[in-house]
Amino acid sequence: MGRPHQIDAEWLVAAIDRLSEIGRDQNGGVTRLPFSLDDMKARDLVSEWMRESGLSVVRDPAGNDIGTLPGSEAVSAIAVGSHTDTVPNGGRYDGALGVLVGIAAVRALKQSGTVLRHPIEVINFVAEEATLPGGTVGSRAMTGALAEEYLSRTGWDDRLISKLLLDAGIDPVGLLHASRAESPPCCFVELHIEQGATLEQRGIQVGVVEGIVGIRRFEAEFPGSANHAGTTPMASRDDALRKAAPIIESVASIAVRLNTVGTVGTVRVVPNAPNVIPGHAILGIEFRALESALLDEATSLLDTACRAAGGHIKQVSNKAPVRSDPRMLLAFDRAVAECGVTSLHMPSGAGHDAMCMADICPQAMLFVPSKDGISHAFHEYSSPEQCITGANVLLQALIALDSTFI
Ligand SMILES: [Zn+2]
Repeated sequence: MGRPHQIDAEWLVAAIDRLSEIGRDQNGGVTRLPFSLDDMKARDLVSEWMRESGLSVVRDPAGNDIGTLPGSEAVSAIAVGSHTDTVPNGGRYDGALGVLVGIAAVRALKQSGTVLRHPIEVINFVAEEATLPGGTVGSRAMTGALAEEYLSRTGWDDRLISKLLLDAGIDPVGLLHASRAESPPCCFVELHIEQGATLEQRGIQVGVVEGIVGIRRFEAEFPGSANHAGTTPMASRDDALRKAAPIIESVASIAVRLNTVGTVGTVRVVPNAPNVIPGHAILGIEFRALESALLDEATSLLDTACRAAGGHIKQVSNKAPVRSDPRMLLAFDRAVAECGVTSLHMPSGAGHDAMCMADICPQAMLFVPSKDGISHAFHEYSSPEQCITGANVLLQALIALDSTFI
C-alpha cells in the first residue's frame, strides 16, 4: 500500500446521487430544510456512510455529526466538513459535496493504509442555510456563539427553533452547550461549490479561498416634500427619489473603482404612489470586500456622494472580513501542485460554516466550479470530474496539513 493519490471516484459520484434522492423535488431540486424529516434522514445516511468508512461517529449536543478517524499521535484533529441542509428547492452540491469529499478522503487514507499524525474529523454541520435566522447554526453552536434567546426565535415554519429541534429529537439547550472553544480542532477545511462563475469562465479547476468577504450594509435616506404630481410645477418640486437616483450609479462606480462589489438592493419610496411626488426615499446598500480598509474607503465615498445629493447614510450592519490561515493556503498550494491541476486564489463572496469556525481555529476553503455560477437552485451543477478533482486536492491538502501543524 502506497501513498494515497486518488479518492474512489465511483463511490463519490454514487454518494452525491444517492444523497440527492432524499428530499428530491419534482423538478430535480432538493429540499432539506434544517431538522425536517428529510434533513434528519439525510444526516442519518451520511453518518452511516461515515461508520462504513471506518469513522467513529458522535452527534454533538447541537446535532452536528462528527466522524473521527484516529491519528498516530495524541494531538487535536484536522477537521473537514460542511452541511447537508438545503434552501427550498436547492441544489445537490451546496454543502453536501463538502461533507462527502471529506468521507471520500478518509476512505482513500484507509484504503492505502495511511495513518496521519493528526486524527481527521469529518463534520456534518446542522442548519447552515439562512432558513433559520442567521444560518450557520451548527458552526455557531460549535464556537459558542449562540445565546438562549435564539431558541425562542421562529424557524422556517411558524414553530419556534426550540420546538423544531425537539421535534427532530434534539434537546434545544444543546445549541448552547456544544462549544469547542476550549478544545478546538487544530484547523478546519471546507470544500464548497463556488456559487459564482469565476472558475468556470476562466477554465480553472480549483479555487483556493483567501478569505470570506466582509459585508457592510447601509441605508441612505433622502428627504423631500410629498406633493401633488399633477399640480406642482417641475421647478418647485422637492423630489426625494430624484435626489436618491444618482446614488445607484455612484455605488456601482465606487465598487468598480475599488475593484470590489457594491449593490443597491432595495428602494423604498414614501408615500409610494404614482400621483404623489416622493416625499422620502431610502436606498438599501451594501459593499463586500476582503479588506476592511476597502470597506472603510467605500463607506467614506458613499457618505460624500450621499451628502452631495442632499441625503445621509446610516450603517445598519458590519460583518468583518475573515482571512484564511496563510499556512493552510501554502498547504493547499502544495496539494494543487501534487495533483497537477489549475488553481486560482480568490475571495468567497458568500458566508460559510468556515467563517464561523475561524473564531476557534485556523480555517481555509477550497472551491470547485459551479456551472454558470448558479446555486440555491435546482439547476445547480458541478460535473463529476470537477467534484472528483476537488476531492483529490482535498485529500492531498489533508496530507499536507498533517505536516503543517504540530
Ligand atoms: Zn453551503
